[in-house]
Amino acid sequence: MGKYTQDSIPICPLCDAKDETKVCKKCKIVYCKHFASVFDYNYCGNCVAEIKLVETLLEKTVEHQKPDGTTIFVRKFLARRLRLVGNDWLFLSHLIMEMSDADIEAAIELHRCNVDILIQERTERNQERYRKLAGIKVQKPGESQEQREKREAKELAKKGIKEKDPAAMATDLITKLSKMGLTPEQIIAALSTGVGK
Ligand SMILES: [Zn+2]
Ligand SMILES: [Zn+2]
Repeated sequence: MGKYTQDSIPICPLCDAKDETKVCKKCKIVYCKHFASVFDYNYCGNCVAEIKLVETLLEKTVEHQKPDGTTIFVRKFLARRLRLVGNDWLFLSHLIMEMSDADIEAAIELHRCNVDILIQERTERNQERYRKLAGIKVQKPGESQEQREKREAKELAKKGIKEKDPAAMATDLITKLSKMGLTPEQIIAALSTGVGK
């Protein structure tokens, strides 16, 4: 699908004001970056538009057999095949044959650089998606907003006890022992014999 219609001008007012335009190498129309092909900046968005990535899943089954003809095991392999198709892709690849050695070197570097930027962009977008997913709070079925908040607070408090420092844990222990009916002297005696062992 192209980026502009037959009777529209492929230059936006902003780029027109700054005189940032380019002539398409194929149809010679004047266009701005907003109407450039997403695949190749040197062409307008209508000349190099018909490029598609086609994905096919190939399935292969391999059977291993004993000499007597009985099957030992069967294995299924799945392969993903990616292919670029479209008339504009063919048009671009025909141009390669007419390129000079220096042009080929420069084009390889340009595309290598573009690939790095594209992969970086994809990684950043994926990370952003994971971050958003991680931030989603899970509401258990039949649980109200208030109940969820209470449960989360409880879970947080539980974690808090685990992370308590040793001094706080000792205080907790002494409180528990005195509640069990032990006098301070008995606690001290019990603690010192325990440590001495
Ligand atoms: Zn064009
Ligand atoms: Zn523009």
